[in-house]
Amino acid sequence: MSNIVAIVGRPNVGKSTLYNRLTESRKAIVDDFSGVTRDRHYGVSEWTDQKFTVIDTGGYVANSDELFEVAIREQVLIAIEEASVILFMVDVTTGITDLDDEIANILRKGKKPVFVVVNKLDNNAQMADATEFYSLGLGEIFTISSMTGSGTGELLDEVVKHF
Ligand code: GDP
Ligand code: MG
Repeated sequence: MSNIVAIVGRPNVGKSTLYNRLTESRKAIVDDFSGVTRDRHYGVSEWTDQKFTVIDTGGYVANSDELFEVAIREQVLIAIEEASVILFMVDVTTGITDLDDEIANILRKGKKPVFVVVNKLDNNAQMADATEFYSLGLGEIFTISSMTGSGTGELLDEVVKHF
């Protein structure tokens, strides 16, 4: 399938929650190399009659901070290679972290469309906090709650335009 949406971001931002919401599939492909466990989940989703593959990256298990960062960098580079659209997920409750900045730097050099997805917007009061993510320099941001599903329809409407 040629329409591929990859969800990238540091641990705990809600990537798997969104993936499960989009695919309702929990198949795992685990691949061991050099002390790092890469864990990528592939599922199928559909929006407005358009089918696409969703990739959940993460589940990183590494035995040092350095390997951990290597693992995330690797996942982001693979996403840039194989995805048609990249969802870069960040967390409104923590704001921008150093790791977010690092991932943003890698994504900015890639040629694929990137959507900044600000997650955990469970109520409208957090909307003002979301604007800080414009400073990642990746363009428009989309605010969602993976938990409730709010905002995901507006996001997918834009994503499918890139297929
Ligand atoms: P991942 O490591 O990026 O895959 O993140 P997970 O999907 O495993 O979620 C990490 C934690 O954030 C879990 O405890 C989720 O329940 C929580 N979480 C995910 N999405 C939301 C959301 O929209 N709102 C809130 N409040 N919590 C969320
Ligand atoms: Mg996960």
